[in-house]
Amino acid sequence: MTPDTVTPKNIQNPPIAFFSLSRADLEALLTEKYQMPRFRAQQLFSWVYKRGVYDISQMTDIGLESRDVLAAAFDFSLPEIVERKISNDGTRKYLFKVAGDALIESVMIKQPKRMTLCVSSQVGCAMGCTFCRTATMKLKRHLSAAEIIGQVLAVIVDAKNFGDSFQNMVFMGMGEPLHNLEGVLSSTKILIDPKGLNMAGRRITVSTSGLVPQIEKFGQAASTINLAVSLNATTDEVRNQIMPVNKRYPLDVLLETLRNYPLKPRRTITIEYVMLSGVNDSKEDLARLPKLLKGITCKINLIPYNTNADLGFNSPPKEWVYQWQKDLLRQGVETTVRWSKGQDIDAACGQLATLARSKSPSSMAIVT
Ligand code: SAH
Ligand code: SF4
Repeated sequence: MTPDTVTPKNIQNPPIAFFSLSRADLEALLTEKYQMPRFRAQQLFSWVYKRGVYDISQMTDIGLESRDVLAAAFDFSLPEIVERKISNDGTRKYLFKVAGDALIESVMIKQPKRMTLCVSSQVGCAMGCTFCRTATMKLKRHLSAAEIIGQVLAVIVDAKNFGDSFQNMVFMGMGEPLHNLEGVLSSTKILIDPKGLNMAGRRITVSTSGLVPQIEKFGQAASTINLAVSLNATTDEVRNQIMPVNKRYPLDVLLETLRNYPLKPRRTITIEYVMLSGVNDSKEDLARLPKLLKGITCKINLIPYNTNADLGFNSPPKEWVYQWQKDLLRQGVETTVRWSKGQDIDAACGQLATLARSKSPSSMAIVT
């Protein structure tokens, strides 16, 4: 051994992103690597997720020596808020900078009686839906669990300036959450942990464009969390055109997966249907939709298209959207309409993209 050989002992490990760790992961790490007592994990979770303290030096019930060790071991940094826009309907859009100078967006959506936080799961998206602004960015990378939780915490901190908070959370921002199954599942563990962010699973919804194997895995791993599926067409012909994922997992395969989905009692799958004038909103589509959904415990959420000037799609008139809702309700299918929020600040569904600011080229393909 030469005098300057580096041994594992004197290699300084980079700090671990604290927000990537479930309580079980943290407990294992602290007991095995640092010989700390088991309750230390719960203590740390309580400071961080209950009291919003991210500075170890303020965690006064932990001994000074242990605090030094923990401060060196963990990174508690939150994504930086680069911009916050406030819509005249009270919706707020946050632009965050994450590692590698990537930009992502989260939206606090104002509703009459509550707020819903919409988070991103990827930088960009690989799915290529032709009507969606995020698709134009292509996929830059997945977000880590720590970056997903970081968005949530940064919004919680900022919401104090407005005296509000959110009650519901949706994975409907940038990206296809089930393409980043690992990051999304790890983040949901922290969200629903009673000692973590303590959210009820029924208040969280993950929306997918229809990645069949991942829907099955998600159903096994996260059955307390709601699933939403963006159907957006009633024939393979149209769905192939607007959602390339349909070529891999066509309607019959997707719908059969939903029929067999392991739903908890009193839960429903949300079927999202973006209404694109002259593309998927004909009388025939309306007649086909409830038939396709037979045997699936679901409700429909109609989403009038939020126009992206250059993508060539339009929303049908309001009256036609209401006609669809009325007709579906008459046929016994629970149907709601999602009128957009935050359109004046481009915060509505499918309007999220940070292409103009992002320089890195697309480098990832769909992994299924
Ligand atoms: N990738 C996931 C979740 C993010 S997109 C998914 O596709 O489900 C969230 C929802 O916004 C989806 O239902 C999608 O179909 C819809 N959407 C995309 N662009 C839209 C637009 N311009 N107007 C209205 N809804 C849009
Ligand atoms: Fe991706 Fe969803 Fe947009 Fe399709 S609609 S490109 S899956 S974010």
